[in-house]
Amino acid sequence: MTNLSNKWKWLILSLLFIAPLLQAQGTHVHGQGELLVSSQEGQLSVLLTLPAMDVLGFEHAPSSAAQQTAIKDAAEKFKAPLKIVMPDDEAGCIVQSATVESALLSAAEKHQQHHHGHADFVIEYQLSCAKPKYLRQVTVLLFEWLPAVTINAQAVTEYGAEVATLNRRSAVLVLSSAP
Ligand SMILES: [Zn+2]
Repeated sequence: MTNLSNKWKWLILSLLFIAPLLQAQGTHVHGQGELLVSSQEGQLSVLLTLPAMDVLGFEHAPSSAAQQTAIKDAAEKFKAPLKIVMPDDEAGCIVQSATVESALLSAAEKHQQHHHGHADFVIEYQLSCAKPKYLRQVTVLLFEWLPAVTINAQAVTEYGAEVATLNRRSAVLVLSSAP
């Protein structure tokens, strides 16, 4: 339990740190996603928020079978973390969990049609890295799928924090490492 509670403490600390970024959620700007990467003692946590509009081209509840399929297909793609964000090979990171949440996803699953306004995809990954000293950066591969999106990113490690605006041409988020 000690590990778990430490992990949550760290996550909460990280979330406080990027509170200004997260405030944008719910009133998101189309074309802009948010990414938080935190690394501590080999535990790599990734929190990615994207406007559904940028993922699907719509963000209302699905009104056709094709739209339902599009939502579920997107969720499946997000469940392959190493195709979305790729840490350094040398760090030996393996995926522990991948979760995808969206009001549209629940609407698609329950065949509901009463979602209105903005909707996000909120994606959370946990990875365990055998050699964290080689963990120096994370490359965002999401742009191969969604080339038009811009991501406001923040990386928090034991050694410091980095902020970056990432896009198709600048897709690498540097992690502060030991001096
Ligand atoms: Zn929106």
